[in-house]
Amino acid sequence: MKAPVHSEESFATLDGTGIRYAVFLQGCPFRCAYCHNPDTQPFAGGTPTEAAELVKKILRYKTYFKGGGGVTFSGGEPLLHPEFVLECEVALAARGIGCALDTSGAVALSDAVRAAVDASEMVILDIKMPDEARYEKYVGGSIKNPLALLDFCLERGKRLWLRTVVVPGINDGAAAIDEYLALLGERVKGVEKYELLAFHTLGFAKYEKLGWENPLKGTPALDKEKLARLQNYLDEKIRTKR
Ligand code: SF4
Repeated sequence: MKAPVHSEESFATLDGTGIRYAVFLQGCPFRCAYCHNPDTQPFAGGTPTEAAELVKKILRYKTYFKGGGGVTFSGGEPLLHPEFVLECEVALAARGIGCALDTSGAVALSDAVRAAVDASEMVILDIKMPDEARYEKYVGGSIKNPLALLDFCLERGKRLWLRTVVVPGINDGAAAIDEYLALLGERVKGVEKYELLAFHTLGFAKYEKLGWENPLKGTPALDKEKLARLQNYLDEKIRTKR
């Protein structure tokens, strides 16, 4: 099974535990206003790669995965290519390497998506906006599929991290955090970690290079202290729910 690989990173540390081999697959159904990898969005492009070929390459890094590391499938949206991801997951699991899925949940649950999620060691799911109207406005899609994936992960008892990018002027206050928590309700009890990420401007140059309009041009990066304050607020609220 082949899938279009946008890029690979052999010593990633952000998307999961330990040292990770990150595979970014090409194509994404969402159009997040704050996307810092817009070049991964088009469905065309990427390097068609056989699962077996990718697995063979990853196995060279096996020793680095000791201590909780492994492989992370990201994108773009990795669950656009569930059969490819599953083939890699099964082959890697047979050699003692676990895989994480770093997903926006944009793709509807199908048998193939369920199988890829079931075969993963953990899921890192973006909850981008706290309601349908803002998903439509800032993400260019619906909240329904991400919530369905969240519920599926909880039902399966999957190791689960949630992530939200905090953007100045859009969702950067305690009131917005309360809205995310209201949306999630009791679901947060089944989540291992809910991480806020700071909006940054490192992707701005990519919009220029692509000749695309940058929807957030002029928006400043989120202040790190503000992020820490909001993360503390969120963590405290979750603690009281547990
Ligand atoms: S889901 Fe990720 S890759 Fe897709 S548009 Fe949003 S930020 Fe970009």
